[in-house]
Amino acid sequence: MTDRALVLFSGGQDSGTCLAWALDRYAHVETVGFAYGQRHAVELACREPLRAALAGINGWGARLGQDHMVEMGASLAGIGETALTSDAEIRMTQSGLPSTFVPGRNLLFLTYAAAIAYRRGIKRVVTGVCETDYSGYPDCRDDTVKAMQLALNLGMEARFVLETPLMWIDKAATWALARALGGEVLVEALRLQSHSCYRGERKILHPWGYGCGACPACDLRAEGWRGFTAAAPAD
Ligand code: ZN
Repeated sequence: MTDRALVLFSGGQDSGTCLAWALDRYAHVETVGFAYGQRHAVELACREPLRAALAGINGWGARLGQDHMVEMGASLAGIGETALTSDAEIRMTQSGLPSTFVPGRNLLFLTYAAAIAYRRGIKRVVTGVCETDYSGYPDCRDDTVKAMQLALNLGMEARFVLETPLMWIDKAATWALARALGGEVLVEALRLQSHSCYRGERKILHPWGYGCGACPACDLRAEGWRGFTAAAPAD
C-alpha cells in the first residue's frame, strides 16, 4: 500500500516535524527509534510524549500506528568513540566534521528501517536528514539517501521510496513547516517536547525549548527559532 509510511523518529525537532508531515499525508504512519548507546537517553525519553502530543492534533491519532524500537547500542557504540556515544568533548575534528559524527549511523538506521518497512508492507520511509544546515554529515546528504534507496531496493527486491521533507530547508523553515502542518499547537509541542541538545539538558527552558544553550545542536535550534520568529511572529 502506498499510503503507509514509516518515520525514523528520534524525539528531536526534525524527526518530530517529519512525523507530523507524514501524518498529514498518509493514512497509516508507524515510527521507528534507535537506541545506539547515546550518552543521553533524554531524546529517546521524549519520543512517547511527543508521539502522544501529535496524536492529539488534527485527528492524527487515528493514523498513528505502532512504534518500533531497535536496540543497536552495543554494536554502534562499540565501533568508535564519538561525542554522542561517549564522554568525549564536542568539537570540530581534523576531517572538518564535529566529534558528534557517528560514521555510517544514518546508513544503518535506513537499513534497519527498510527491513521493518519490508516486514510491515510499508513502501514509504521518511527521514528528517537535511543537507542545508546539518554540520556537513555526509550520510545526511541527498546523494547518499538516493544511493541508499537504490541499494535497499536492489538488496531487498522492493520499491521503497525514501522521503526527506527537510532535505533542502533550514531550521527556521522547519519551524514554519510545523506551523503550516499543525498550527501553534504543533509548534508548542515541538518546542517543549522535542529534544535536540547534545548534552541532554532538560531543565533550562529557552524560547526555543530545553537545552544547554551552548552545544552545536542548541546553537542550530536557537538560530532557527530566531529566524522563524523574526520572519513570522506568533499572533
Ligand atoms: Zn545543548
